Amino acid sequence: MTELELRDLRKTYRARGRPPVEAVRGLDVRLRSGELLGLLGPSGCGKSTTLRMIAGLETVTGGDVLVGGVPVTDRPARRRNVGVAFENYALYPPLTVRENLAFGLRARRRADRGDVDRRVALIAERVGLTAVLDDRPATLSSGQKQRVSLARALVREPDVLLLDEPLSHLDAAQRDTTRREVKRIQRDLGHTAILVTHDQEEALSLADRIAVMRDGVIEQLGTAHEIYDHP
Ligand code: ADP
Ligand code: ADP
Repeated sequence: MTELELRDLRKTYRARGRPPVEAVRGLDVRLRSGELLGLLGPSGCGKSTTLRMIAGLETVTGGDVLVGGVPVTDRPARRRNVGVAFENYALYPPLTVRENLAFGLRARRRADRGDVDRRVALIAERVGLTAVLDDRPATLSSGQKQRVSLARALVREPDVLLLDEPLSHLDAAQRDTTRREVKRIQRDLGHTAILVTHDQEEALSLADRIAVMRDGVIEQLGTAHEIYDHP
């Protein structure tokens, strides 16, 4: 059970000879424990930068990220217990799907082998990867790779789950099943989660609240009903 709070979170990219880019210009939002926030907005508005700062994959220019009330901005990614499924999050090519999923789990939880195997098998089944567990990423379709990256985030049972376009490479049928499964897992395990998507339908069906970002700030924040007049 973990709250996630962003407090005046900011990011300015500076490169020599170029004007600075204020990608994120002061985000304030608080997710209650187990809440799924849908993050929408046009390309370039700062969604990915926001997720990367929460995950610790990007330094912050200002403000803070609090997980369970504790500021984590000074902690490296591996000490935040934040799981990410990013569109292009690298899978390790030499490892099989099974090994990719088990990677990090063993050291982290000092879980015994049987325990890790069971967790991996369970998540793989839920997102439809059982048949390819012994294959390597290079042989998978982009939809399957995407599900491996999703499963890898889920299998860690992180306090906070960050999903960046997690279903974008799936076909319509797979997207439907996977979306339902993601919701079920997120609800069952009580992950506090942020889902970035371009797909309004996806946001409406998954999110408890929706934040619409524009130009580095949250422009609208509310339930689907409040924002879209959706039932
Ligand atoms: P979104 O995910 O909403 O498409 P991003 O967070 O990727 O938006 O980008 C927000 C802004 O920051 C954009 O103007 C983008 O060009 C810029 N940006 C993103 N990453 C970098 C980077 N590494 N260096 C410089 N500018 C960046
Ligand atoms: P540790 O065992 O110390 O927690 P890991 O070996 O599990 O570290 O992971 C190493 C790095 O890779 C960490 O920074 C971790 O955040 C990152 N990482 C691995 N898998 C994922 C994932 N699915 N989502 C987010 N980050 C991940």
